[in-house]
Amino acid sequence: MRITRLAAALGALTMAFGVAACGGDDDSGSSGSGATGIVKKAESGKLVIGVKADQPGLGLQTGSTYTGFDVEIGKIIAKGLGLADSGIEWKTTVSANREPYIQQGQVDLVVATYTINDERKKVVNFGGPYFVAGQDLLVPTASTITGPESLAGKKVCSVSGSTPAKRIQTDYKDAKLQQFDSYSKCVTALAGGQVDAVTTDDIILAGYAAQEQYAGKFKVVGKPFSEEPYGIGLKKDDTAGCNKINDILKAAAADGSYKKAWDDTLGKSGKAAPELDATKLTNCS
Ligand code: GLU
Repeated sequence: MRITRLAAALGALTMAFGVAACGGDDDSGSSGSGATGIVKKAESGKLVIGVKADQPGLGLQTGSTYTGFDVEIGKIIAKGLGLADSGIEWKTTVSANREPYIQQGQVDLVVATYTINDERKKVVNFGGPYFVAGQDLLVPTASTITGPESLAGKKVCSVSGSTPAKRIQTDYKDAKLQQFDSYSKCVTALAGGQVDAVTTDDIILAGYAAQEQYAGKFKVVGKPFSEEPYGIGLKKDDTAGCNKINDILKAAAADGSYKKAWDDTLGKSGKAAPELDATKLTNCS
């Protein structure tokens, strides 16, 4: 019995050192636990999570408080890494600075309506997806725009560094694209009549359309024309961290905390919680 336990302990130690020795994350340092990347960072009791600050229902900053589905997902991941909510430092990100913030270590994780795609995967890693959105259009209630085909000659606003802006540039070249650094600026321009439409993910647009100050003014066209699987961004070489995130998401789907995160935020609109499809989680490598 004793010997077995000692052997197990030695085995664990060897494994720990083995992992530490080949861990690719150089700012993780060496550690008795052998952990690297975000798992190691979480052991310090602090994690910096990048979220949006101006997207109602997803990531919205009011004073020093952030709320929304992405924020709740961030809390689930942090908790799964052994952290209390008080150990999270929220940092505002915009679409264009998500990859550089991760690469430079300004944030440990990004949970910010962040589409997983091959181009981004060249520089960062993604856990998830934890939700799948689709690109759509927000237009004034009386607008005759019925989809991306009717955008020729129209002023369309989106955000630099986002997949929807890129899709307009490549697939709908006749549209006049106006880019800001955040969607709330686009929505203000739409309300002021400076642009004819705002384009991004349907779930983001629905949040703006539901804001009290815009009641009755806008409609979401409702014909999504892309798939935007939302991932949790982290450093490219942090494979272990990515796997851990996927394990945490799987557990959250099973124990009801994923559904609760939805029900407490976007679900308040009456929309039922989506299923988190554990078979679609990234392979992390
Ligand atoms: N999901 C898209 C993206 O990651 C659009 C939303 C956003 O810009 O945050 O680019």
